[in-house]
Amino acid sequence: MKMMDHERKLTPAAVLFDRDGTLVVDVPYNGDPELVTPMPGAQQTLERLRSLGLRTGVVTNQSAVALGKIGMDDMRSVNARVEEILGPFDTWQVCPHAPDDGCACRKPRPGLVLAACRDLGVSPKEVVVIGDIGADMTAALRAGARGIMVPSPTTLRREVLDAPAVAGDLWSALTLALGPDMASAAASPDPDSGASAMSSAA
Ligand SMILES: [Mg+2]
Ligand SMILES: [Zn+2]
Repeated sequence: MKMMDHERKLTPAAVLFDRDGTLVVDVPYNGDPELVTPMPGAQQTLERLRSLGLRTGVVTNQSAVALGKIGMDDMRSVNARVEEILGPFDTWQVCPHAPDDGCACRKPRPGLVLAACRDLGVSPKEVVVIGDIGADMTAALRAGARGIMVPSPTTLRREVLDAPAVAGDLWSALTLALGPDMASAAASPDPDSGASAMSSAA
């Protein structure tokens, strides 16, 4: 049955990423742009997505704002630094609320994913969400999107077991999201295989 998921032809229209622990190293309540460090493979993964014409976005819980640990300006500075390192994203969806605010956007609720889809003009069915914890996967599934987990040191074993799909790093997650053909073309930038990939895509 899992083969069906791998074999489905539908290429996603957009890939949404969790920020902390997925795109960049998780620094709890970080308000300091200097502390932003990309996760392994993040730059290459985003370059590949953009070169294929797929939209990219970030969906991130930032309760540090509501909890008074950082200001909105700090958060914007950190997000700007993320874009300096990883390039521009087509949409940013941020939940600044506290865990007990009862908002509709904080993951595992689907609000951020749905807002990103609206902003990009795509159906959640065409969207892959990549994140490091169970809340990211639950938000994706509740929105009707596909979830792929790249576990980080903070991920619980239970969350890994429950994840709809698991990859060891972002590049492997990209391979799962796009299917092996597009990913292998990316993994081996050989001019000959590139030409055949282009002709078969036409
Ligand atoms: Mg995370
Ligand atoms: Zn919220």
